[in-house]
Amino acid sequence: MSSSLSGSCQCAVMAEFNRPLRIHEYPLPKELAPGELLIEVELAGICGTDVHLHKGQLDVPLPLIMGHETVGRVAALGDSDTKDWLGRPLAVGDRVAFTVGRPCGKCRYCRVYRLPSRCLHRQAYGVNTPCDKPPHLLGGYGQYQFLHADTAVFKLPDDLPSEAVVGAGCALVTALHGFERMKMHSAESVVVQGAGPVGLAALVCAQEAGARPAIVIGGPRDRLENCRRFGADLTIDIEEMPDAEARRKIVLDATGGLGADVVVECVGMPQAVVEGWELCRDGGKYLVLGHYGDAGPALLNPHLITRKELTVLGSWGSEPQHWTVALELLRTCRDRYPFHELITHRFGLERVNEALDAVARWETSKAVVLPNG
Ligand SMILES: [Zn+2]
Ligand SMILES: [Zn+2]
Repeated sequence: MSSSLSGSCQCAVMAEFNRPLRIHEYPLPKELAPGELLIEVELAGICGTDVHLHKGQLDVPLPLIMGHETVGRVAALGDSDTKDWLGRPLAVGDRVAFTVGRPCGKCRYCRVYRLPSRCLHRQAYGVNTPCDKPPHLLGGYGQYQFLHADTAVFKLPDDLPSEAVVGAGCALVTALHGFERMKMHSAESVVVQGAGPVGLAALVCAQEAGARPAIVIGGPRDRLENCRRFGADLTIDIEEMPDAEARRKIVLDATGGLGADVVVECVGMPQAVVEGWELCRDGGKYLVLGHYGDAGPALLNPHLITRKELTVLGSWGSEPQHWTVALELLRTCRDRYPFHELITHRFGLERVNEALDAVARWETSKAVVLPNG
């Protein structure tokens, strides 16, 4: 059975970098093929990556409807037999979240190397899916979003608020993927560099992996407060302590004089990597998680990798299995990790430019767009 649809909806479109997004009216898809979904957007998170996209710092096609942290309700299904990624039946009105990336499943990265996040033909909603051709509605900054049949969709349980899912945003699944690649052991000492959304998510992953202690270096102060609320044993404010050597001394003191077993970079500035290698103990692991934008090179000394026998790892995006972990973590640990309380700014679709500005100025813990009021 395919639904017959009519009407149109409003979306915020980025037609040029560094220019205000404009509200544009697009028709709803007239018909959905089996497996396809139309979602009425409830909350669309604004990710730091959106700010980078808006500034033209990533090579993406335009025009674009941004928004890749979205929760909404199923408005129409192409087939009444549609199921979510875990095989649960979907119906009109169900609240869902979904993965951003759609790997092709056919290239060498998908099939041989099992690295779908590095798929050669990966499509990512709200990132590299231009909206000039039907079905147009391929990002979260709009009243409706279209989902292709191969999207990994997750039906949300009633005891998991949408605010928790969007409050954690893409940062939590990104961090879960990074920690999976790093294979942390329990009772290892962890330093997280950066107190933004990715840093906070990395802190949660570190604690779930049994970090002793979990240390966060970053700022500003309110973000570090969030980190302590989420269980950080120690926070180091880079504004109060601008000297990297002084910060290293604190980390050494807190880790038995040798440095941290694990250091996770969640800053996105090359200089943080230079500092991070110095914070690792010999034989330690260093995970670069925060460099989604290309912020340029840093002067690094490879001697450190050899002498310290460092393991340096990268991680890009996430896969559906990280979503299953994230959603269960959010559902069961809401008191311990109150991501739902991070949403500090809410904007209607017509104020999406204000929202992006607020995120760019670091004024928000988490900003969301409510395209349907
Ligand atoms: Zn993101
Ligand atoms: Zn592929």
